[in-house]
Amino acid sequence: MSADKRIPVAVLGATGAVGQRFVSLLDGHPWFRVAALCASERSAGRRYGEAARWFLPEKMPEWARDMEVLPCRPGIDARVAFSGLDASVAGAIEEDFARAGCAVVSNSRNHRMDPEVPLLIPEVNADHLELVETQKRRWRGGGFIVTNPNCSTVGLALSVAPIHRAFGIERLVVATLQAISGAGYPGVPSVDILDNIIPFIGGEEEKMESETLKILGSAGRPAAFGVSAHCHRVQVSDGHTLAVSVETRERVSPGEATRALQDFRSSLAPLGLPSLPEKPIEVRDEENRPQPRCDRMAGRGMTVSVGRVRACPVLGLKYIALVHNTIRGAAGGAILNAEILEAKGYL
Ligand code: NAP
Repeated sequence: MSADKRIPVAVLGATGAVGQRFVSLLDGHPWFRVAALCASERSAGRRYGEAARWFLPEKMPEWARDMEVLPCRPGIDARVAFSGLDASVAGAIEEDFARAGCAVVSNSRNHRMDPEVPLLIPEVNADHLELVETQKRRWRGGGFIVTNPNCSTVGLALSVAPIHRAFGIERLVVATLQAISGAGYPGVPSVDILDNIIPFIGGEEEKMESETLKILGSAGRPAAFGVSAHCHRVQVSDGHTLAVSVETRERVSPGEATRALQDFRSSLAPLGLPSLPEKPIEVRDEENRPQPRCDRMAGRGMTVSVGRVRACPVLGLKYIALVHNTIRGAAGGAILNAEILEAKGYL
């Protein structure tokens, strides 16, 4: 696709933690061109370079610096609206854009559990895209909403999918150690998080428990097994770590589980999606990996790293997984969702 024919897209919530990742990852994207950066009335009318407190290590792209931030209202020349909006406002704004004919590709929780809205990890449940057709009838104008999961859920659902397919999950317990960037900006007060672990993230455990089943089920029918999540905020900048224990229907040894994880490949490779990582899962064999600082950028932040696959004396099997929360867990995951929408002819 040549540069001048790229699809115009808007970023809603462009000034926030996820919004900044969108801006950075869309810089030079071969299929998408950023036509609008939108945020709250507090930021609207200002230059993006002034309105966004940029905190990524990568430089703010030059083209973004002087763009005027627009309010989040439809009527913008964009076929796709990427949403990194605060959940308190995302629901209604995303519906307005869908009604106006946009493909809304959202990170926010508001529409994830709607039975007509795909909750997508393309390597795992691309078939759930069929829900888009039902949904298009709901919004006048032919728009629709597609969501990506909660940032911790992506690491869990992607890493457990090959084990579920091969051996059938009966029960699952997960404990997370979640990075501070997952709380957005300004996020958790430093006096709370320094030298500390906070054993509560509002709504997070419920999201992991319900979203995992929706992703691993068929379109419209969630998987049926027990999921119990414990979520903690820790003093790490980026990268959520998950300690996972699973019980499978068929007995599985750590070696068999490791092979299932290593052999897991996406059938989407022939589509040439620019953000699709070569390996959705990377299995580490060192005894002390994965670690957030060393491994969060695996596959340009799109690969989930798994390690310490071993026997669990209670449930049978356990392992550690690591996911980059603002790339695979948010903006990168959403961009991959938009790429599959384009490749399958939905845009
Ligand atoms: P954030 O840093 O607080 O950013 C929120 C964005 O929403 C800002 O651009 C803000 O604009 C905008 N906004 C707030 N109120 C608004 C209003 N009334 N109208 C229009 N725009 C408004 O939050 P975040 O961490 O980026 O998270 C964004 C969403 O993604 C949330 O729903 C979150 O749950 C989800 N998510 C986050 C992560 C993560 O790792 N951070 C991962 C997955 C999903 P102003 O700057 O103008 O206020």
